Amino acid sequence: MMLEKYAQFVGEDEIDAIVKLAQRLEDLSILHVNSTAAGGGVAEILNRLIPLMRELGLRADWKVIRGDQEFFTVTKTFHNALQGTTSAVPEHYYSIYEKWQEINANELDLDYDVVFIHDPQPAGLVKYRKKGLWIWRCHIDLSTPDPHVWSYLRRYVSQYNLAIFHIPDFARDDLDIPQLLIPPSIDPLSPKNMELPQTAVERIVRKFDVDPERPLLLQVSRFDRAKDPLGVVEAYRLAKRHVPDLQLVYLGSPAHDDPEGEAVYNETLKAAGGDRDIHLLMLPPDSHVEVNAFQRAATVVMQKSIREGFGLTVSEALWKRKPVVGGRAGGIKIQVIHGVTGFLVTSPKTAAHYTTYLIREKRVREEMGNAGREHVRRNFLITHQLRRYLMAIAYAAK
Ligand code: UDP
Repeated sequence: MMLEKYAQFVGEDEIDAIVKLAQRLEDLSILHVNSTAAGGGVAEILNRLIPLMRELGLRADWKVIRGDQEFFTVTKTFHNALQGTTSAVPEHYYSIYEKWQEINANELDLDYDVVFIHDPQPAGLVKYRKKGLWIWRCHIDLSTPDPHVWSYLRRYVSQYNLAIFHIPDFARDDLDIPQLLIPPSIDPLSPKNMELPQTAVERIVRKFDVDPERPLLLQVSRFDRAKDPLGVVEAYRLAKRHVPDLQLVYLGSPAHDDPEGEAVYNETLKAAGGDRDIHLLMLPPDSHVEVNAFQRAATVVMQKSIREGFGLTVSEALWKRKPVVGGRAGGIKIQVIHGVTGFLVTSPKTAAHYTTYLIREKRVREEMGNAGREHVRRNFLITHQLRRYLMAIAYAAK
C-alpha cells in the first residue's frame, strides 16, 4: 500500500489511525471540485490526495469546473478583492459568475455524499446542491476582504455545512456555519519533493544556464502581484551588492485559472533589465522534477508574498532543508518561524539583509534547514492533511 510508505516520516501509529478512520467512512462517496487541473497549490494537493483517498477505499472523485476567459477574469478579480486588493468590481461580473455556476452545475454530476468545493471560483455551485454534505475549503487569505465581494460570496458560503480555513486569521466571525482550521500539506514522495541525486540537480539547473557552484536565490511562484515578483528582483539587487556572484531564479508556470500571468511576467522582465544573472523561467505546470531540483540547488529560498493563502512553496523548500525568507503574510507565518526556520520580512530591504546573512553563514543555513524539515515533518505532510480531512468528514457526517 502506498500509504505505508509514509510511515518512515510520520510513524506507523499515524498510518494506522488514518486507516481506521477511513474504515468508518468507507461507504461514502466524496467529490472535490476546483477550478484548474494544473498550476497552483490546490491542483498540486488534489493530485496527490485523491489517489490516497481511493487507496483507503473511499469513493473519491475530482472534478474541475470550466469557464471561458471572461469567467476567469471575473474570478481573478474576485480573488484579488477577497485578498484585500481594492478595486471596483463591475456589477455585470456577478451575473457572469452566476452564469458559469449554472453551466457547470448542469454539466457536472454533483450528487455525492460529501462535496468539497475549493475556493471561491466554484463556491456558487452550492445553490444547485441536491444532496450531501457540502464543505467549502478556502485556500486564500480572507482576513481583510473587500466588503462587497465578500458579502456576495458569503451568501453562498453560509449555505455550506462547514468551512475549512488554513489559519485562524482567515476564519470569519460573520459566518454562522462551523469552521475548522486545517493547513495544507506537501507530499514527500511526489516528484516535486522526492530525494534527487546531486548530479541530477546540477544537470537540471545547468540546462537553464544556472551555475550550481555560485550562490542562488530562488522564488517559485506564479507570476502574480501578490507574490511580489518586483520585490524579489529588488531584494536580489540589494543583496548582490554584498554578494556579487549571486544569481536569481524566479520560476513560474502559467495556471489556467490565472489570466494575469503574462502581464506580470512582462513587468518582471522589464524590472530585470537584462541582468544575465536573473533567470525568469516559465516552465510547463508539470515541471515537478525541475522545481524540485531548483529548490535543492538554491542557497536561500524566498517567498516574498504580500498576500498569501498558505504558500506551499515554503514547505517544499523547508522540507529540502532550505531556510526561507518569507513575506509576513497568511500561511507563511506558520511555516517560517522567525529566526528558527527562516526569516519573516516586510520589505525588499529586509529580505536582502537576511538573504545576504544566510548566504554568508553556512552553519546557520544548515541549522535552520534542519529545523525547517522537522517543522514540516510534524505539521505539513500530506498524511496530516488526509487525517484531518477524514476527521472533518466524520465530524460533518455525524
Ligand atoms: N509551482 C510549480 N511551478 C511553478 C510555480 C509553482 O510547480 O512554476 C507549484 C509550486 O511548487 C507549489 C504550487 O505550484 O506546489 C504553488 O502553490 P502555493 O501554495 O505556493 O501558491 P498558489 O499558486 O496556490 O497561490
